[in-house]
This record gives sequence, C-alpha cells and structure tokens, in this order.
Amino acid sequence: MRRAVLALLAVLLLLVFTGCSKTCKVKGCDNEVHEDGYCTYHYVLNGLEEAANTAGDFLGDLFG
Ligand SMILES: [Zn+2]
Repeated sequence: MRRAVLALLAVLLLLVFTGCSKTCKVKGCDNEVHEDGYCTYHYVLNGLEEAANTAGDFLGDLFG
C-alpha cells in the first residue's frame, strides 16, 4: 500500500516537472521555449543538424 502511494507521488512529481516546464528541453539550458520544447537557439541548432544529416544522406546517395 505504501509503495503504491510512493509510486503515485513519483508520477505526480514527474508530471509537475515535465508538464509545467516552459524552458528548453536541452539539459542544462533554461532558456524560454520557442518551439517543439526547444529554445530559439537549440531549435535552430536542431534544424541545422537535421539539414546537415539530410545533406549527408543526399551526398551519400550521390557518391555512394
Ligand atoms: Zn536551449
């Protein structure tokens, strides 16, 4: 019984921490969220990385 209560508390705490966080989801970054849970900086960085990966795949297809 006590275990169940503890588990419930843990879930609630988790919900509070994840549900109400309005900061960037990148660890150690507490900038305000811009989009997709990322701040402006990390959102752009993420987009660039994705673009680089896409370009890499394209080049790989072309020369591979
Ligand atoms: Zn960030």
